[in-house]
Amino acid sequence: MKKAMQMIKLNNGIECPEIGIGTYMLNPGDAENSVREALKTGYRMIDTANAYVNERACGRGIRESGADRKELFISTKLWPTEYSNPDAVDETLARLGLDYADLLYIHQPAGNWLAGYRLLEKAYREGKAKSIGVSNFEGRYIGELMRKWEIVPQFIQVEAHPYFTQKELRSLIGKYGIRIMSWYPLGHGDGKLMDEPVFAELAAKYSKSSAQIILRWHIQMGFAVIPGSRNVDHIRENFNIFDFQLTEDEMSRIARLDRGERYYHRTEEQLAQFAAWHPVYET
Ligand code: NAD
Repeated sequence: MKKAMQMIKLNNGIECPEIGIGTYMLNPGDAENSVREALKTGYRMIDTANAYVNERACGRGIRESGADRKELFISTKLWPTEYSNPDAVDETLARLGLDYADLLYIHQPAGNWLAGYRLLEKAYREGKAKSIGVSNFEGRYIGELMRKWEIVPQFIQVEAHPYFTQKELRSLIGKYGIRIMSWYPLGHGDGKLMDEPVFAELAAKYSKSSAQIILRWHIQMGFAVIPGSRNVDHIRENFNIFDFQLTEDEMSRIARLDRGERYYHRTEEQLAQFAAWHPVYET
């Protein structure tokens, strides 16, 4: 089967690649390198954030790759201390060196997040964001947003992997056509998830790695997925998932791993800390 990039049709009609590269915890040098190499490999989506303090580096990686901007899907996130900054979107775009983002999120339901969401809606109306989303808006926050949004978001970015498949959230957002973008898709590199015997067995069957089986599972769940890595071999490996398909029975076997177990447990106290911390951007 020929390897081909797949696209997801969003609830506003635009298309998003199923897989992108995540840049959390990548210092500027690594982010620049990973973004450039990912784009050369064939990735078309990049996920960054104000808080990763590598937006300028991602912009450099994009330009160095020589990729056609029109084919790219660039996603970034406003940090809570930016929600009250009317210039936050323009400043974010300036750091990236872009005149629009394909996807703009608010990163956390912290501080005055409704003001942050209004910035996204404004950017969407002005064409500075082709789609918008919320990140980490689980539980009561997504319910509150639903009562207040003027524009329905295209994405919610949350922790999702075979141990934690976001069942509740999926049933809540399904009718709006809001898509999930999975963070920690490989369990943040945790050996326990990657070493589950079912992945080794399927990896042997399809001549793939366990990581590739897990990423393929995300895509077949309908999630957009953004594995992170600074390792070029892993970056290439993670993109090579379009020449096989898990059967329904295999998807059901993987579904049995779901134990509602998150890696990251955020508290209200942390949200308050997020609202007080401001990124020191690269110059
Ligand atoms: P991940 O689950 O993608 O795991 C990344 C780690 O897995 C790497 O550091 C590496 O150690 C390992 N890895 C990657 N490819 C591998 C392979 N082929 N074989 C073996 N090991 C491999 O976790 P992540 O990078 O933290 O998350 C992915 C992305 O999600 C981030 O880069 C970021 O863009 C996004 N994210 C968003 C939030 C949020 O609050 N919105 C939070 C965390 C992450």
